[in-house]
Order: sequence, then structure tokens, then C-alpha cells
Amino acid sequence: MSEALIDQFGRTVDYVRISVTDRCDFRCVYCMAEDMTFVPRAQVLSLEEIYQVARSFTELGVKRIRLTGGEPLVRRNVISLVQRIGKLPGLEELLLTTNGSQLEKMAPALRDAGVTRMNVSVDSLDADKFRRITRTGDLDQVIRGLDAAVAAGFERIKLNAVILKGRNEDEILDLVDFAQQRNFDISFIEEMPLGLIDEHNRELSFCSSDEVHEIVASRYALTASDATTGGPSVYHNVAGSSARVGFISPHSHNFCHLCNRVRVTVEGRLLLCLGNEHSMDLRELLRAEDFSDEKLRQAIIQAMDLKPEKHHFDLGGEPEILRFMNMTGG
Ligand code: SAM
Ligand code: SF4
Repeated sequence: MSEALIDQFGRTVDYVRISVTDRCDFRCVYCMAEDMTFVPRAQVLSLEEIYQVARSFTELGVKRIRLTGGEPLVRRNVISLVQRIGKLPGLEELLLTTNGSQLEKMAPALRDAGVTRMNVSVDSLDADKFRRITRTGDLDQVIRGLDAAVAAGFERIKLNAVILKGRNEDEILDLVDFAQQRNFDISFIEEMPLGLIDEHNRELSFCSSDEVHEIVASRYALTASDATTGGPSVYHNVAGSSARVGFISPHSHNFCHLCNRVRVTVEGRLLLCLGNEHSMDLRELLRAEDFSDEKLRQAIIQAMDLKPEKHHFDLGGEPEILRFMNMTGG
């Protein structure tokens, strides 16, 4: 059984990002408030429910699943979930986005479970600055995690860095140097107005991909690449290297027309677009007395009609999307 998921605009959805927890050991200033209220545990999908959702998606032709969060690796027994999802027929790639804090111990088990590529968020290479941006993070621990990931033999490791003016824009070249030396791809992300934060003014700290590109190009010869890894990064090749530099530009270069993905939130809401609230409650179905796999598949197929054509982000004023990125799964 393999039915394609196609939305009203003719886009085929073959990529799902699942948030396995909203909890995290870091409190990055662009992602969370310092004092966060997390979703009560009873409202969070169980590992079994997450597995059922993942299985239904692969039965509907989804080829790529990314586990994210919150910090996916702080969810208890997450490895058992990764192992089960990794065995689903039809799944071509199992991916992970992590802050790297748990990788030192978990990298080999993740690789064995079938995770092929991994994104690790690193916004600064200066331990103090790293701590200030993440509020609680330990840079050394993350670097040891990256070393463990290299040793475990992942096919590709990509760094993600959110660049904020006045915070880490002076580290753009250092971050590219670091990535190039280790043969990691790196993507620079424009901050998105998800969740209400008061730590900084997002309009003032906004650093566009074009500005970051100009800084990288001052040291590296970049050529646009048509390579895609199925995500929103627009990649550039670096002369003399196989490690690429990518830009994720939800504001400045809208990528909605190519959108092939949907998200499942930590509460089991199938979210059709990161920048809109269109969603379907899968948890209600999963917990209904008359639940069946077929009902779940039909609900997912129907939800495709809800996928909006595009998102619109406005940095000024109140954020329109009040959910934080950790609920949604970045
Ligand atoms: N904890 C993991 C991590 O940090 O990689 C996975 C979840 S995190 C929400 C996924 C990605 O979203 C990270 O690369 C993070 O930098 C990014 N992110 C979080 N909040 C963001 C925001 N408001 N705008 C843009 N990117 C954001
Ligand atoms: Fe945690 Fe990732 Fe959000 Fe940072 S970006 S607070 S590491 S979920």
C-alpha cells in the first residue's frame, strides 16, 4: 500500500518532521523563554503513538522522517523509537536534529539504528557566548558530541546556526572555517518569529541570509548549487571542498512553492505549515476507542487539503504564531 500524499497545489509530501518532546536541556534565546511551561506529559504522544504515526506516513509514501524537538535525545527511551522507525519499510532516510549535548554517549546507537544524516545546532564557538545564547549549554560537551558523531560514521553532518545581529554575526567566518575543517555542511538560519520572547527584539537582531552570504563570500568562493537534501536550505559549493554552505531564508527567499514536508507536534497535531496554524489532531484519533490504522491514514490524506500555499512572517508587532519552535519541531 503506497498512496502519494499530494496537496491542493500539486506538491507531493514525502517528508515528515516529528517533534518527539518539547523539553530541552538548553534554553536558546531565539527558541524559548527562560521560564518555560512544558506540555503536561499526558498530552504528549507516547513513543508507541509516535511510532504509529510514523508507520502510517511511510505507508502513505513518506520516504524521509526527521526526529526533532525540543531536544529529541532527552526523551527517555528515544533510542528504542529510533530503532523501530529505522526499520519501517519504504523509509529511505531517518534524520535527526539535535543540540548535540547527548551525542557523546548516543551517537553510535543512533547510527546503528539507521540515522544517516544529522543536523547539530551550533551558534557560537566561543564557550561564554555559546552559554549566553543557549542559556545553559556547554560548548565542550557539544564538540565532544560532534567528535563522537564523526567517529560513528554518519554519512553527513550539518551544523545549523541561527545568526543574530549583535550576538554572533561576528562568528560567521569562524563557523564556516570550523565546518570546512571537519567537512561538515553548515546552514545559516534566519530567525523566525515563533513564540513570544522578551529577551531580544527580533526586528533589531534580524540578520538576513544575503548579509550572511556576503560575509562568507569575503573569504570563500561560493557557487550556487542545485543540490538539495530535501529541506529548505539553498546550498552553495565552496571551491576546493565537498562541504557546503547553506542558507535557510524563511523571510527573504520564500521556499513555500517547493515545500514537501509536514510536521507532527509533540501533542500529535499534524501541522501543515510552520508559519500557519492549519492542523489536524491525530492524538484524538489515536486515543479514540474505535481507532484503526486505516482511520489514521485517511485522516492524514484528508489533512493534505489543509496545507496552505505559503507562510507570511512579520517581524514587527506581535508574533502571529504563538507556539514556540520546540513544540513544533524545527
Ligand atoms: N534541539 C534541537 C536543536 O537545537 O537542533 C532540535 C530542535 S530546534 C527547535 C531545531 C532548529 O530550530 C535549531 O537549529 C534551532 O536553531 C532552530 N530554531 C529554534 N528557534 C528558532 C527560531 N525562532 N527561528 C529560527 N530557527 C529556530
Ligand atoms: Fe532546545 Fe533546540 Fe530550542 Fe535550543 S533550539 S532551546 S536546543 S529545542
